[in-house]
Amino acid sequence: MPELRQNIITGDWVVVAPERAKRPQDFIKTRNPHDHPKDDCPFCVGTEKYRQNKRVRQVASEHVYVIENRYPAFEENELGESTKCYYAEGGFYRARPSSGDHEVVVVKDHDLSLPKFSKTVATDLFQVIRDRFLWIKQHEQVVSLIPIYNHGGEAGASVVHPHAQLFASGIVANTVGREMHGAEHYYDINGSCVYCDMVSHELEQRTRLVYENDAFVAINFFASRFPFETWVIPRRHESQFEHATNTHLEYLADAMMAVLNRLDTVLHNPSLNFYIHTLPTIVDGSASYHWHVEITPRVTTYGGFEIGSDVIINVMPPEAAAAYLRGEEATKKSLPVMFMWNSPC
Ligand SMILES: [Zn+2]
Ligand SMILES: [Zn+2]
Ligand SMILES: [Zn+2]
Repeated sequence: MPELRQNIITGDWVVVAPERAKRPQDFIKTRNPHDHPKDDCPFCVGTEKYRQNKRVRQVASEHVYVIENRYPAFEENELGESTKCYYAEGGFYRARPSSGDHEVVVVKDHDLSLPKFSKTVATDLFQVIRDRFLWIKQHEQVVSLIPIYNHGGEAGASVVHPHAQLFASGIVANTVGREMHGAEHYYDINGSCVYCDMVSHELEQRTRLVYENDAFVAINFFASRFPFETWVIPRRHESQFEHATNTHLEYLADAMMAVLNRLDTVLHNPSLNFYIHTLPTIVDGSASYHWHVEITPRVTTYGGFEIGSDVIINVMPPEAAAAYLRGEEATKKSLPVMFMWNSPC
């Protein structure tokens, strides 16, 4: 089983999963994901490699099916071993088995690239992810789940065949933990959900608004780390993704595809990730936390300053990015006026 190791200084968790790469030369690779011919593709239904996949789940739908990840970052604890923390190396470091689940949600059509998904396929994908989310939450001892999608080599996709992944683990993700903490702090001071307030503010300002429908709002986040980083947020307060109804997920698919189509047009099929941030499964509900999707185009790479400081230099103001994504030319007018208007901090 892979191992979760805690940073003794910051408390952040990392997963050490040695199954994924065994020799130094395994790390030396091109960034292009593997484009298998369809008769030799591990995700194309019916091939020899497809048959080697572990436990095809029963939740397949018209466009999507689910398998276990062959190299799980979080592994099912089938033998019921203890997953408690232990103190390694004479009690100095803290670690624990990396238990949980790691599934691949595969879109059946090999040739369907993410930005070209129909609304039906995208709805199917989100509904299957929600169904697996609920099943894992009810049947396995996990603390939190993160559904993710990698598109393109720069975003970490290893094979071209379209697929999402569901990571279920015994820890709260470092990012979600920080967001929950910040959202609680905001709630303590303001008595309201920071995400709900942000939705209202962005709908008023409209400078970073990319798309809206009856249930979701898509904005370029004010403090974007990535050029064209776009957040898709439910309009009304909801802390748990897994409670989204089928209809709600149709609206999510509509908003996601609108944004992904525009990113495809403006950036010419960029590599990107998206992931869902939602409340950990051990919490029943929250007035301060609000689930959302973050879409992060990977059109720039981090340099030493970003890695060394965790302070990101984003060369594309989100106001200009949003203007491009709305189909407008980003003019000086759409560039941020914050430097002129800001009151002193
Ligand atoms: Zn395939
Ligand atoms: Zn809210
Ligand atoms: Zn988030």
